[in-house]
Amino acid sequence: MGEIIKIAITGTPGVGKSTISKILVDELNKNNKDNEDKNNYKYIDITQIVKDNNLYIEKDMSMDSYVVDFPELRKYLKKEYADNPNIVLDGHISHLLDVDYIMVLRCNPEIILDRLKGRKYSDNKIKENVEAECLDVCLIESLDNSPNVYEIDTTNRTPHNIVSEIIEAIENNLTKKGVVDWLNNYFYML
Ligand code: ADP
Ligand code: MG
Repeated sequence: MGEIIKIAITGTPGVGKSTISKILVDELNKNNKDNEDKNNYKYIDITQIVKDNNLYIEKDMSMDSYVVDFPELRKYLKKEYADNPNIVLDGHISHLLDVDYIMVLRCNPEIILDRLKGRKYSDNKIKENVEAECLDVCLIESLDNSPNVYEIDTTNRTPHNIVSEIIEAIENNLTKKGVVDWLNNYFYML
């Protein structure tokens, strides 16, 4: 690959971002033939960084979520990863950051619902996230931020299969959107 890039892996909570991001980083680093550390991809968990470094304006108690302080988060990332040009940013707000490529993961909202119930999220938070998936929120925000957007439906696919598609997209500079239409089939979930 050779070139330096920052890749955002975004999507509704429960869609599979963290699973996919970690495998993606391993696979990208396997492909790094010259094996120079500085060229290795680094995995960054945005949600964790925001919490650990107090990069939020407030905690929204009703939603059990954080209102991110974007200027501070950008400053932190710039400083902390100045020597690490190749990064994979895992997080449902990663598409709002300064990145070269945005991968938007999608998943059937019924599966998202099951996964978030399993996480013991509040009913409010589950509803908000299922609706966001149905309404393409991450995709629309991504397209607002960058033309380099590639959307993937992960439903019923293995993580390795999904990662292969992501690597092919990156290597060939591909873009893709409009791969799912949940509203037609899952309108009752709103
Ligand atoms: P996110 O980081 O987007 O919130 P996770 O990576 O934590 O999502 O995945 C949520 C759950 O779904 C986990 O239990 C994970 O094992 C499972 N999962 C993720 N991707 C897949 C997949 N492609 N097939 C089956 N299960 C998956
Ligand atoms: Mg995650």
